[in-house]
Parts: sequence; structure tokens; C-alpha cells
Amino acid sequence: MNVAENHNLRATRAWKARRFAGRSPVITLAVVLVLCLSVSAAITAALTRGAQDRELQSALGVTAELETLLTLHMAANTDFLKGVGTAGYTSRAWPIKRAATVAGIYDRLERDARGGARITRTLRQLRALSAVWPEQLDAAARNIALADAGAKLEPALLQHANDTLSSIMTLLTALRSQERDQIRAMQMSSQSQLARQKLSLIAAATAGALLLIFAVFTSHRAALSRSASRIVALEAERRFREYFEQHPIAMLIFDVNDLAILTANAAAQRQYDATLQQLRAMSVDELRPLADVEAFRRDLRRYIDSGNRGGSGGVRRHKRADGSIIYVDVAWHLLDYADREACFITAHDVTAHEEAKDTLRVRSRALEATNNAVVISRRIAGEDVITYANGAFERITGHSVREATGAEHWTMLGTDPLSHEALAIRTAMQSANEGSGLLQSVKPDGTPYWIALHVAPVLDDQQRPTHCVTVFSDVSERIRYQEQLRSQANEDALTHLPNRLGLTARLHAMTQLATREHQKMALAFFDLDNFKEINDSLGHTAGDEVLCEVARRLSAHIAQGEVVARYAGDEFVAVLYGRGDLDSFVAAAAAMKESLTHGFLIGNKVVATQASVGVAVFPDHSRDPDVLLKYADSAMYRAKAIGPDSMQVFDQHLATENSARTSLMHALRRAVTQRAFTLAYQPRVNPRTGEAAGFEALVRWNDAERGPVSPAVFIPLAEENGLIVPIGEFVFETACRQTRAWASRYPDIVVSVNVSPVQFVRSDLPRMIAAVLERTGVSPRNIELEITEGVLMAPRSLATLRALREMGLSIAIDDFGSGYSSLGYVRSFMADRLKLDMSFVKGIGRSHADEVIVKAVLALGQTLGMHVVAEGVETRRQLDFLVENGCDEVQGYWFSRPVEAPNALAWLEESRAALDASTKPWSG
Ligand code: C2E
Ligand code: MG
Ligand code: MG
Repeated sequence: MNVAENHNLRATRAWKARRFAGRSPVITLAVVLVLCLSVSAAITAALTRGAQDRELQSALGVTAELETLLTLHMAANTDFLKGVGTAGYTSRAWPIKRAATVAGIYDRLERDARGGARITRTLRQLRALSAVWPEQLDAAARNIALADAGAKLEPALLQHANDTLSSIMTLLTALRSQERDQIRAMQMSSQSQLARQKLSLIAAATAGALLLIFAVFTSHRAALSRSASRIVALEAERRFREYFEQHPIAMLIFDVNDLAILTANAAAQRQYDATLQQLRAMSVDELRPLADVEAFRRDLRRYIDSGNRGGSGGVRRHKRADGSIIYVDVAWHLLDYADREACFITAHDVTAHEEAKDTLRVRSRALEATNNAVVISRRIAGEDVITYANGAFERITGHSVREATGAEHWTMLGTDPLSHEALAIRTAMQSANEGSGLLQSVKPDGTPYWIALHVAPVLDDQQRPTHCVTVFSDVSERIRYQEQLRSQANEDALTHLPNRLGLTARLHAMTQLATREHQKMALAFFDLDNFKEINDSLGHTAGDEVLCEVARRLSAHIAQGEVVARYAGDEFVAVLYGRGDLDSFVAAAAAMKESLTHGFLIGNKVVATQASVGVAVFPDHSRDPDVLLKYADSAMYRAKAIGPDSMQVFDQHLATENSARTSLMHALRRAVTQRAFTLAYQPRVNPRTGEAAGFEALVRWNDAERGPVSPAVFIPLAEENGLIVPIGEFVFETACRQTRAWASRYPDIVVSVNVSPVQFVRSDLPRMIAAVLERTGVSPRNIELEITEGVLMAPRSLATLRALREMGLSIAIDDFGSGYSSLGYVRSFMADRLKLDMSFVKGIGRSHADEVIVKAVLALGQTLGMHVVAEGVETRRQLDFLVENGCDEVQGYWFSRPVEAPNALAWLEESRAALDASTKPWSG
């Protein structure tokens, strides 16, 4: 039996009972009797009855109005619930029409309802609840919509609305019961009134037929009244039936004692996927997972014991026929049903909402657990106002979440909103784009920190931005590390001055500044003249100390904003800024140069340094910092060429020289790949006999564009860029091959080959020489290596020289007297020959000092057992002087210029032939 049948049955039984009672002949007789006896009373009663009828009609109207109110609230609740879970949903539960209808009903009820102040109070309370309930629904709906966008879900809001509805339902149901009781009471009183009238009529029977007719009329009215009651009862039944059956929310009624399900509406059958029959065969326990049964029973007992007739049961887990779990929001109401103590429940399926809540909860937890700060903001009146911030936000920014909520986004980030990076990100935010950047921020206590930040817009269904999500992490540590690496990369480890990289960076920045401020600046390029000797003689530790002292002295001369950098080895660059005109820059550079010449103590030795300085000025010489540096470098080279401790300011001539040098370098490189070199040979002659003891092999380069280029020009260039290594190998191999050919006829011939100091440093010289000797088959006795004094000073070179000599080669010290000329070095390696530099030979007959030096060197050679070769002999006078002073060999244009191999051989043959002729007794 369903709920409708049950109600029908009850109503029919009551109606039949009343009809039977109305037709009773005893009652009719009594009525007639009463009519007869109490005509006068009947007249009075008739008047009273009219008033009672109006009351009854009014009570019926009130009940109907209450029913309508119930229906309207349920409909509103259904509309609200339908909308839940829809993204961006706003409550549609309380449209104006519905609100107006309800207000009208309350107006009529307050006017019509009887029952005095208590009913009026209840109605006012109800009106207030009905007014507040839609607001609560709206608030809950807004919150749910925001929750979809990531805000915090407030289940309490939904709970408040449910509680209010429950109160409304409870009050309405109570009122309706009261009205029904009242109607019943009226019917009862109507009946007793009728009985009294009947007695009166009996008593007034004698009063005549008129009274009887009146009594009959009255009886008829009573019958009409009962009939009206019956219709009202049936109507209420019908409404309840419709409400129950057609309600979209699942509804069930179960026995509170044995928990048997008594009935369920169609929505419940759909929700639990069971027919009414199946549901009726079940206990309400079976609608939930086993684990929840105990709690359910406890709560049910509590509800019953509380004395309340209804309320909210909150969100519960229920089980469908297939065992799947759903979440339902339960409201309960106790009632009598089919003569049983029953509980009526509505179980609204909120599974999707609960799952969404669950997802939200998990995501919220994830947001809280992440190490990245997450901030959600909303654009309000042109400002980004924070609506959410997670725990990491607190840790990173030092602002509490409470402080941040409602505050302006950039203020809380502690970032300058006008900085370049912040502006870029703000633009992205305003145009609903994503954006990222690295920003410097400051904590409330003033601590600076760096954040890597990413912003992304949150769009609604129509792709309009509603919020902005900002995620950032503290990258201060990484930035610090990068800074450290950068500064290490830019700094010279020994002097802590900027290194070449650091200089370049500073120079570029200063050039930009100078351009903006229309200032001049100068680059002074310092190269220590004697650092190599200091390093070689005092050792590297002392050398390092000297470099540090030079750094200190140069730094002492610069002002705030100027720079001294260690460019390379013993090269320093000062960038002087805004000191006025060229002269003031030159004066400043000169003062710096001068400061280096003051001796200082290294260990127990006083060391004085000297530097060659080149100066280039911005913007006079160039506006390009790199070019300026190159110009200062060129000027420094020019200064070096002039002599130690000199200074040169760059001029255009230098620039030309510079570019000529670059182009020569390219040509030389090409010449090396094309092996475009030849050798010339200059005889070394015994000045007394005129016999050639051998030759010096000299490299020649005849460039297609430039013509012959002097080795004095290209050898230093080749030494600078290492090309001397392949050139030297070529020269050595060619000379060896030639010598081998000559030696077959002149076994005592010695051909000397120049070896550059760079070959000692940059290549495995002994290995190369051994390989060439092997390849060409020349005897080492026929080959001599010419080295300069500088080689003797290089570390490890003595060992190399000894190794070479052990191979059987002889060694000559070239250009003796022109270089460092330390007798200590001469003593450390006893060469086979000393080649006296031609500058001294040139002084013979012109400079007494040169002649003294020539004599001294000749004496030194004789004493130490070294042959002395005088170079650059051009005049008879020079030759005579040298012969007089016991010079062993001479070389120079007086005898021969360097010539090609065939001519050299011819010269050799002639000289030997002449000697032979002069020594033969018959030659004369
Ligand atoms: P050096 O080794 O002292 O060679 C002697 C230089 O003096 C040669 O110049 C030669 O031509 C020049 N000379 C000879 N007699 C006279 C003279 O009476 N008057 C004048 N004014 N000069 C004379 P060259 O050939 O131009 O070479 C210049 C320098 O280039 C050489 O000086 C040497 O240091 C270097 N060089 C030449 N060939 C080679 C080579 O194959 N390897 C290396 N490493 N250096 C070489
Ligand atoms: Mg030489
Ligand atoms: Mg020489």
C-alpha cells in the first residue's frame, strides 16, 4: 500500500462514519424535537452558526494558504538544489514572483489567521525566516560558484540555509496541524451546537412548523458544513499525495521502531535504483554502508528523544542497489503513518557536490602543501586584491595569510610595481595573458629576496578573466650563487681586481653612462716593462706580490666610479671617468705610471717597477668600448717600442698601423699554409783569411702584394701568434737539407739557424730538431742554433740547450749585448759562439764607448773560450778594428749580403779557391 492509498482509506472511513451518524433517525427525531422545543434558541443559534461558518471557511482558507506556502518553499528548495553544481550558478530559488506570492500569503494569513498573539508571533517568525532563507541560499550559491573558481568552500552557508528551511517547514507544518485541529474543533463544536439546537427544537416543538422548518434548514446547513470539511480533508490528501509522488527529491517514510521502509516516492526509487516493492522489503539500515548503520541508529534515537518533530540530518553516505555509494543531504520529520510511528525523510543527492568538495579539499591540501607560494587575486576598482594565499606565501613573503587577504597584490609581494619586470607582468595580468619574471622583493623586516613568479588568468564560461593565479618561489639562494659565480668569473683571483671579463662589462656600462652624461673617459693600458725579469730572478711568489702591489698603487689613484682591472699577466687597465679634457686624463695616467717606479720591499729586496702606458680617450678616439681598448693597447705597444717607462696617447696613425698589422697577420697566416718562404744565406768569414767558415740561414718572405717583407717585421708578428713554430720548423728543415748537400763537399761547414725564444716555450724543440736531423741525414756538427739572450732566462731552457748540445749541435748567442746581457746567464750556459750585436759594430770609429764594449766582448770570448762573431760589418775600418782586436769571425755586407743558396755556394767556392791560391807558394 502506498502513501496515497493509505490516506484515501483513512479519509473514506471517516467520511462513511460521519454519513452514518448524519442519517441516524434518533438524531433526526431529536432534531425535530429540539426544533419543536427551542424555536427561540434556534433563532439565536442560527445567528451564531452564520459566524461559525465564516470562521470555518476562514480556517479552511488558512490551511490552504499554509499548504501553498509549504509547496512554494519546497519548490524553491528544489530550484536551488537543481542549480547546485552548475559552474557560476547563482540561486534562482526565490524569483520576485515567488517572493510576492509568499509575501501576499503572509499578509492574508496575518489578517485571517485566528489564535491570537501566538499565531501572529509564529507568522512573523515565519515571515522573517522566509525573508532570510533566500539570502542564505544566495550566499551558499555564491560560495559554491566561487569554490568552483578555487575559493574556500563554506559548507556552513549551505547548512544555515538548510536549517532555516527546516525551521520554516517545521513551523508551517505545526501551523497547519493547529489549523486542522481548529477545523476539527469547529466541527466538533458545530456538532454539539447542533445537539443543543435539537434539544431546543424539541423543547420548542410546540412553537410551530415555522420553527421546524427553521430547524430543518439549520440541519441542512450543518450537513453542508460537514461536507465542506470532507472536501477540505480530501483536498489536503490530494495535495500531499501529489507533493510526495512528484517531488524531484527522494523521499521515504520508515517505521522508527523496526526501521522498515513503508513507502518511497518515484525520485527515491530512481535514486536508489530499486522498485517501490524492493524498497518496501528493505530496512532503512540497508540504504547505507554497514559502517554507518550504528551512527545512523544513534542519531535517529537522539532526534526522537530531543522532542523535535523535524530537522536536518546533514550529509550522509547512502548505498544504491548496486552497492555504489552516494552522498545525500537528509531532512527528517516525525509523523504518524498508517497508524505507525514513522519518520519522513528527504534525501537529496549531493554526490557531485560532495565529490567536488572532496576534490576541492584535496586541491586545497595540495596548495597548502606546496613549497611554492600561491596567491589568487581579483581585479577590484583597478587593483589586484588578494582573495587567497597559501602557507608558502607566509613563509616566503613574511606576510600572514590573514594580512594578505583583501590586500593589494603588489604591496604584499614587496616588489616595486613600476620595475621593468613587474610592469611586464602587470601588463600580462591586465590583458588576461600568462606572464613570468624574476623579481626582487623586500620582506616587511627589510630583508631583500628574489622570486621567480608566474601569473595566469582564470577565465569564466565566456572566457572573461575573473581571477588571477600567481605562483612564485623564493630563488634568492640560486641568484646569490649565480651572483657569486658571476663575480668570480669577473674577478682576478690574485689581485681581486676585475679581470678582462669584468673590465669589459664595466667598460660597456661606463661608455653608456658617458654618452648619457656627455662626459669623456680614458682608458690607460699599463704593461710592466720588467716584470719577466722580476719573476725570473725573484720567483713567482715575489712576482705575485709585485702584481698585488701594482694593483694597490694603481687603485689608489682612481676615484669613485672609476675602475682598475688586471687585463692579463702584467697588464693592467684603468678606466678614468669625467676628469675633463685629454690633458687631465694624460696627467692622471702619468701619475699612476710614476707611482709604480717607487721601489718597494719584496722579501729583503727592494724592487722598482716600470710600465709602458697607452692612453685612448672616449669619445675622441672611438665611441666603441672594444675599439677603445684596442687603441689603448696599440698606444701601449707604441710606448713599449719607444722604450721602457714611456707613455703614448693613441693617434690615428696608430690606428692605421694597427689595421696594417692586422692585414699583415692575415697574409702571414696564408704564407705559412702555402709555405711561401725561402732561405737566404750570409757567409760567416774568417777576417784574416777571407775564408767562409759557414753561413747564417735567414728566412725570406716575398709577399705577392707587399713584395719582400723583412723578417725584422714579420718574425715578431709570427712570435706573437705562434706562427713562428711552423715557420721555424720549415727554416730548420730547409737549412739542414741544404747543409747536408754542402757538407758532402765541405765537411767542416757550419750553418747557423735562428731559433726564436717562442719555439722553446711553445713547442717540443728537441723532438722537432731530432726528427729533422734524422729526416735530412745532416750531421749535427754542421748545424749551429742561434738563440737570443732572452732564451737563457726562460725557465727550463738551460736543460733544453744542454740536451740540444748533447745531440752534437753547437749553440751561438745572437745579438749579444743588445738584450739583458747578464753575465750570470753567460756563465750559466757556455755557448760555442757569441754574436756581437751589430749596433756596437756600427759604433766602431764613431763611439769610443762602443769600441770599448767591442774590445771587452772580444776579450771575454777569448778568456771564456768562445768564438766571437761580429755582425753587420760594412766598412774596412770596422773590419780592421775587429781584426786588430782578435775577432774570430765576421758577418756583414762588406763581404756579402744574404744570398740564395746557389750564390752562397759560389761564394764559398770562390773564397776557398782564393785561400788555396794565396796559401800556394807559386800563386804569389
Ligand atoms: P739576425 O739573426 O741578427 O740576423 C742578422 C741580420 O742582419 C739579418 O737581417 C741580416 O740581413 C742583417 N745584416 C747582415 N749584415 C748586415 C750589414 O752589414 N748591415 C746591416 N744593416 N744588416 C746586416 P734579416 O735577414 O733582415 O734578419 C733580421 C732578423 O730576423 C735576424 O737577425 C733574426 O733575428 C731574424 N730572423 C731572420 N731569419 C730568421 C729565422 O729563420 N728564424 C728566426 N727565428 N729569426 C730569423
Ligand atoms: Mg742571427
Ligand atoms: Mg744577429
